[in-house]
Amino acid sequence: MKVANALLQQDLSHLSLSINSKNAHDVEHALKSTALTLDDFMALISPAAKPYLEDMAQRAFALTRHRFGNTMQLFVPLYLSNLCANECTYCGFTMSNKIKRTTLSTPQVLSEIAAINAMGFSQVLLVTGEHESKVGMAYFEKTLAAIRDKVSYLMMEVQPLKQNEYVKLKTLGLDAVLVYQETYCPKHYANFHTRGKKQDFLWRLEASDRLGQAGIDKIGIGALLGLGDWRVDSAMTALHGKLLQQHYWKSRVSIAFPRLRSCEGNTTGGNALMNNKLPNERDLLQLICAHRIFNPYAELSLSTRESSAFRDGAMPLGVTSMSAASQTQPGGYSEPTQALNQFDIDDNRPVEAVVRAIQAQGLEPVWKDWMPFRLSLT
Ligand code: SF4
Repeated sequence: MKVANALLQQDLSHLSLSINSKNAHDVEHALKSTALTLDDFMALISPAAKPYLEDMAQRAFALTRHRFGNTMQLFVPLYLSNLCANECTYCGFTMSNKIKRTTLSTPQVLSEIAAINAMGFSQVLLVTGEHESKVGMAYFEKTLAAIRDKVSYLMMEVQPLKQNEYVKLKTLGLDAVLVYQETYCPKHYANFHTRGKKQDFLWRLEASDRLGQAGIDKIGIGALLGLGDWRVDSAMTALHGKLLQQHYWKSRVSIAFPRLRSCEGNTTGGNALMNNKLPNERDLLQLICAHRIFNPYAELSLSTRESSAFRDGAMPLGVTSMSAASQTQPGGYSEPTQALNQFDIDDNRPVEAVVRAIQAQGLEPVWKDWMPFRLSLT
């Protein structure tokens, strides 16, 4: 587990001290550099870089256009189940929440896919809570087989799986897997994950190694900003991405920067705000630009957790992939129910409005840029 081991060797207190000791000279050095180190990234996310946001935005814009052209990938999440056997204090699906639990049957999944296709999407992210016995490999295999020919790029955000399970799902057409570490600080991680298999910090951290070894096309990583020190977690995420690119060069890396949101049944999001642990929008923009300058090749993904105004402003400055018109409850596209959302979303615009906003920035929305290739020997 090369990448996980390298991450475990980092001294998080040292990273925090290092980030907070950066000065204007360090920021200017990072902005002039063509091959940035982690130290340079830490300068760019430090408080000392706040006055340099315009310079960072210009560089992030140029690097993004150079590598990705004037494009914006569009995808939509499809929530398959809100069953969960974990207790995470920040999530609406947490096991102890008394909510109506649903897992979509194959006909219901097909109805959702039809509704999603009718909106124009063919890049789909399948999302579940984490309930291994009821929503495990048998369910994933059945679902992938049913929908694979109806989507062009198939992503999953589910519980971390074994390497051989990723290999198996790849043969069924799985393209990308997102496993967010939530926080890279084991102490904070233990505080927020109080029951269930998700308490196993290492099993989650090693998931990206298993994905790389399984040859999955794209590996998604990120921290839930607001759980721990968001600057330290972001430095760890940036390092994580670079290490994955070095060790598993056949896989692409996608980085997300979700900010903690409030949801039914918990106060973690509100507490993070009160404790000033949450990055504000200007901090988040600085972070997006820093990720792009540090890692010109990574996909940067921005979800509907953020407001329409923020998304419109941030989209040219490094972001290359966006969700739109998202529903975070199972069945939300074809038959909206009263089932609870996993978290509050902020950009509620219909997909047509998001497309117009992308075009207004001079960017081309990309609905499909990948055709599954199946070699037939018969
Ligand atoms: S964050 Fe994931 S694992 Fe935790 S309660 Fe929510 S759905 Fe379950």
